Amino acid sequence: MSDAVTNAVSNWARNITFSTTELHRPRSLEELRALVTGNAHLRVLGSGHSFNRIADVDADRAGALVSLADLPDGIEVDADRLTVRVGGGVRYAELAAELHAHGLALPNMASLPHISVAGSVATGTHGSGVGNRSLAEAVRAVEILTADGETVTLARGDEGFEGGVVSLGALGVVLSLTLDVEPSFEVAQHVFRRLPLAGLDFTAVSSAAYSVSMFTKWQGPWFDQVWVKRRLPEPVDFPWAEPATQAQHPVPGMDAVHCTEQFGVPGPWHERLPHFRAGFTPSSGDELQSEYLLPREHAVAALDALDAVREEIAPVLQVCEVRTVAADRQWLSPAYGRDTVAFHFTWVAETGRVLPVVSLVEDRLRDLSARPHWGKVFTTAPERIAEHYPHAGDFAALVRRLDPRGVFSNAFVRALLPR
Ligand SMILES: Cc1cc2nc3c(=O)[nH]c(=O)nc-3n(C[C@H](O)[C@H](O)[C@H](O)COP(=O)(O)OP(=O)(O)OC[C@H]3O[C@@H](n4cnc5c(N)ncnc54)[C@H](O)[C@@H]3O)c2cc1C
Repeated sequence: MSDAVTNAVSNWARNITFSTTELHRPRSLEELRALVTGNAHLRVLGSGHSFNRIADVDADRAGALVSLADLPDGIEVDADRLTVRVGGGVRYAELAAELHAHGLALPNMASLPHISVAGSVATGTHGSGVGNRSLAEAVRAVEILTADGETVTLARGDEGFEGGVVSLGALGVVLSLTLDVEPSFEVAQHVFRRLPLAGLDFTAVSSAAYSVSMFTKWQGPWFDQVWVKRRLPEPVDFPWAEPATQAQHPVPGMDAVHCTEQFGVPGPWHERLPHFRAGFTPSSGDELQSEYLLPREHAVAALDALDAVREEIAPVLQVCEVRTVAADRQWLSPAYGRDTVAFHFTWVAETGRVLPVVSLVEDRLRDLSARPHWGKVFTTAPERIAEHYPHAGDFAALVRRLDPRGVFSNAFVRALLPR
């Protein structure tokens, strides 16, 4: 059997202490399979970067929490077919370095490379760009170890595939993912300061480059920073604000040394698309996060709605980031079926002060069809979230098919699924 660490296990942000003190770290597939078949309830913990109980085991069931980080690495590049197969514990930082060494790239990345690939796609994680879809859309096949110890592969085109990637960890242990890749490309990053909300042409600004992120502290009706990542040879064309004269961190006051290179210096895709460098703390490190994904046509209405409550938001906010995501086909992706604008909030690390403001934000975005990010803090009732996912019933059926005994479901997942 695998070694079990018997300390309190918490997530990256330390706002969640999981409901078991044991984190199993199998070193081989055989050890993992023994854990899966020998436990009536089990969840996989990825890199632990979610801010809620999505990865947790149920408190009232003796459940095993398992990390795949000690399994053999497993990154297999097929340069001819433009695919890569990654093991269930691999992080984007390792994957990106390996792809880069092969002259290959992923189309997009999240704001940090520290997160696991399997955990990221399981929650619908995304980067930014009007033409860039969520990270899950790069997945062409997923290999799942089910509760009876069998392996099931769902490939693009298979029945149920669209439910198998953004899975909230509820189908089984993701042993591997096969991703589409493309030839390597270079990106240059520019930061602009002080973009007023008045008269904002959201479509033009968000489409100004391959990937655009707008940051505001909600201390006034403006974006403090706009990060423009152009895919070379795309030109830089951003007439709405002045270029920054010093390197910036999205969270004011934090050292820009944590951030990827700016001032238009060209560099490989994986050293520009994330905001944060692999070897440094991402974001502020002492924080909570929430995020809401809305149909993109509601961008300006949502900005107005948030501006109206900025005096409530600002005291508990470190920074708010606005990004875009292209529509995708994954049943539980927050960008499913609609070109999306995403409103992200990095809050102070004080749950008691933050939750009422989270509810206020949700109230203001309620009529704009907001879907919360699965991996972040939200207070919306689960049945109200399911209303925004036309395939929630199909996902529930897929869970029953692959995991009829509910070994991998937890309270977070069960609350969402239509009965
Ligand atoms: C600093 C910071 C920056 C962030 N930036 C972004 C961003 O730019 N864009 C964005 O969309 N999100 C962002 N996030 C959120 C983050 O991407 C998600 O929380 C993501 O799920 C993290 O991946 P993880 O491996 O840590 O997942 P975990 O939190 O460990 O797990 C998430 C889910 O995946 C499941 N899971 C993990 N591995 C497996 C596996 N092998 N098999 C089965 N199930 C598995 C878990 O059971 C759980 O249900 C950020 C988070 C932080 C802390």
